[in-house]
Amino acid sequence: MRFSDILGQEKAQRFLRQVMVREKMPHAYLFTGIPGVGKRSTAQALAMALNCLSPQDGDACGLCGSCRKILGGNAPDFHVIRPGSNKIGIDQIREVNHGLSFAPLSAQYRVLVICQAEAMTPEAANAFLKTLEEPSPGNIFVLTATEPLDLLPTIVSRCQKVSFQPLPRGVVANWISEKKGVSQKEADIVAGLSGGSIGRALEMAENEFLENRERWLERIAELPGFPRTEAQGVAFKWAEEIKAGGTSGAQGSSLGPAAVLDIWKSWYRDLLLARAKMGEHSFMNRDFSQSLKKMSMGFKIKNLAKSFFLIDRAAMDLMENRNSALVFEHLVLELRALAGRL
Ligand SMILES: [Zn+2]
Repeated sequence: MRFSDILGQEKAQRFLRQVMVREKMPHAYLFTGIPGVGKRSTAQALAMALNCLSPQDGDACGLCGSCRKILGGNAPDFHVIRPGSNKIGIDQIREVNHGLSFAPLSAQYRVLVICQAEAMTPEAANAFLKTLEEPSPGNIFVLTATEPLDLLPTIVSRCQKVSFQPLPRGVVANWISEKKGVSQKEADIVAGLSGGSIGRALEMAENEFLENRERWLERIAELPGFPRTEAQGVAFKWAEEIKAGGTSGAQGSSLGPAAVLDIWKSWYRDLLLARAKMGEHSFMNRDFSQSLKKMSMGFKIKNLAKSFFLIDRAAMDLMENRNSALVFEHLVLELRALAGRL
C-alpha cells in the first residue's frame, strides 16, 4: 500500500509527504475519521515511504527490499496493535514499550500503529503516554481513532493530528463495482448507505446485506397500511424474526438488529428529503425513489422527523444491550402510530 494506492484523502497524504521531508519530523500522529476510510492503510504507506530505499516524490517504490517486507507483512519494524475483545490492555502496551527500548532492527524508522486507540484501557493509555513523553529516536507512532474526544487529552496534545474525510459516494461506488464485480446499481446503493466508508461498503457488498435491505425496506414501507389492530401482531412477528436473523449485537453484523435499524433510518431520512421535495439524487435508497416520493406525501414532516429520532433512540437502546425483541416491538408500534393513515 503506497500513498498513491490510497483512495481519496489527498489532503492527509499531501500533509504527510510534506512533513516527512522536514528536518524535525513529528514522532507521533493521530489519524482521525470514521472507520473504513484508509487510516491504517495510510499508516502503512507512511512506514513504507519513510523506509523505502528508492522513494519517488515522497512515496514508496513498492519494489525495494524494505517495501516488500512491509507489503509481505514480515517487517520487523512495522507493528500494528489492534484491540483484542474490544480493548487494548496494559499487557499489549508493555510489550510494545519493551520492543521500543531497542533501536529499529533493520529499518531506519520503526513505525508502530495503534488501531482504535480509544480502546486502550486507562492503564494502557497512561503507560503509552509515558512512551510518548520520552520518545526514543527512530520510533514513529500512529494512533487511529474515530474521534479525538475519546482519547486522553494528554495523548492527543502530543500527537500531530491528521483528519480523514468520508469518501464521496461516487468514489466508493466505482471502487466497489470495480473490485467486487457488483453491478453499478448495487454499488451505488451500498456506497450511499456506507456514509463514505469503504470498509462499510465492502462489508455490505460481500454478504446478504442487499437482500436483507430490500426485505426490510419493503416491510417498513407496508407499515402505514396495517390497521392498528394488526400492528401489534406484526411488530411481534418482525421482532422475533430480527432476533433470529442475527443476535450478534449492535455492531458488525450486517444482518443483525442494528443493521435493520440502519436500513430503516435511511428510509425515513429519504422520506423526509422526498417530503421536502429534494431531488432523488440526494436519496440513499435511489432504487426506491418512486415509492419514496409517493409515500412521503402521506406523512407530516414533523412525524417523519419524530420517526427518524425514534429509530435513532432504538439503536442506542440496542447498544445498551436492551432486549432487542422488546425494542423492536415498541419501535414498530410507535412508527405505526406516526404513520398518518388511521
Ligand atoms: Zn521501496
